[in-house]
Amino acid sequence: MSFDSWDDFDMQTIAVRAGYEQTPEQENSEAIFPTSSFRYASAQQAADRFSGAEAGNVYSRYTNPTVRTFEQRLALMEGGEECVGTASGMSAILSTFMALCKSGDHVISSQSIFGTTKMLFSKYLSKFGVEVTFVSQTDISEWEFAVKENTKAFFLETPSNPLTEVADLRALSALAKQSDALLIVDNCFCTPVLQRPLELGADIVIHSATKFLDGQGRVIGGAVVGNEQVVGEEVRGFMRTCGPSMSPFNAWIFLKGLETLSVRMKAHCENALDLANWLESHPKVEKVFYPGLESHPQYELAQTQQSAGGGLVSFRVKGGKKEAWKVIDNTKMLSITANLGDVKTIITHSASTTHSRVPLEDRLKTGITDNLIRISVGLESVEDIKKDLARGLDLI
Ligand SMILES: *Cc1c(COP(=O)(O)O)cnc(C)c1O
Repeated sequence: MSFDSWDDFDMQTIAVRAGYEQTPEQENSEAIFPTSSFRYASAQQAADRFSGAEAGNVYSRYTNPTVRTFEQRLALMEGGEECVGTASGMSAILSTFMALCKSGDHVISSQSIFGTTKMLFSKYLSKFGVEVTFVSQTDISEWEFAVKENTKAFFLETPSNPLTEVADLRALSALAKQSDALLIVDNCFCTPVLQRPLELGADIVIHSATKFLDGQGRVIGGAVVGNEQVVGEEVRGFMRTCGPSMSPFNAWIFLKGLETLSVRMKAHCENALDLANWLESHPKVEKVFYPGLESHPQYELAQTQQSAGGGLVSFRVKGGKKEAWKVIDNTKMLSITANLGDVKTIITHSASTTHSRVPLEDRLKTGITDNLIRISVGLESVEDIKKDLARGLDLI
């Protein structure tokens, strides 16, 4: 079935089947094409492929059938015209900004973004004369106040990492349009299964495919989704020339990940909500952050733009770093690592790992205190996850 004929299908079906054309071998599972280049029938065909006069594969830095299948499938799932697969989530963000911005441009970003993205903005984009202003994730008036004549883009993740703050995508999209800026949303935490930012007014969606899209913690990759002009031409043009390409093998892993994404997200959300409720009633827990809890400050908003709370739960233990580390170090099953979106439950001390390069003042301003623990809730039995956390909590 071709790319254009999926209008009448549900996302779950698209995730399993879209974007692939069977080879003459009649395989049922998608083939991997680990080839750097492609052969032409004649010198004329080679010339036509290079000039673009004839559509088709040229060189795997920018056209590879396995990567293309992943791109088409994810584009359909997000409801975008085009998708570009990249080597990592960070290179998806870098490619987007390098393609769209020039020296003298201004970007407004939520301050509650992934620590490495913050570094990319403040250390590298700034070197090329792109100025970034950081504002509150949830206070629209700060965005409004930050808009300048040369504001080119708004950037955010929702829910944010690790405090799961929810940004109002409809309101920010309206403000971005009014300001002639593009709204760019990193949809890593929700995936298109729970939230489709383009439908809510965003212009570009970014993914770290490394997380839930793979879903089993195996490979690194990323993606940019949006319209034909901005993503299909500009971001793809950057990719073609500058080369942060997705490998065919990784694209194949992500394809296999997409096939089970709906069922995994449902199970992650069920476990996460159960765990969040349990943590909220635990005497050694000071505060729980999860958009699916009624106590979450943007619970109502979350209900209107995401179909469930997601797989990430953060909480503050009573005490400080010592108590937080005690909980982490007394787990026997949970993985102490900094990835997320894996079937294996992951426990992370954000302040000393993912956000350790963020200056202390900024870290505290964004609520990433020393007693904060982030859990990427996996697909083990939730009762076993609770037991593993209780070991340390009961010692505090
Ligand atoms: C991990 C992550 C990234 C970076 O993705 P990589 O694949 O690790 O490069 C970007 N944004 C968010 C929200 C992430 O969690």
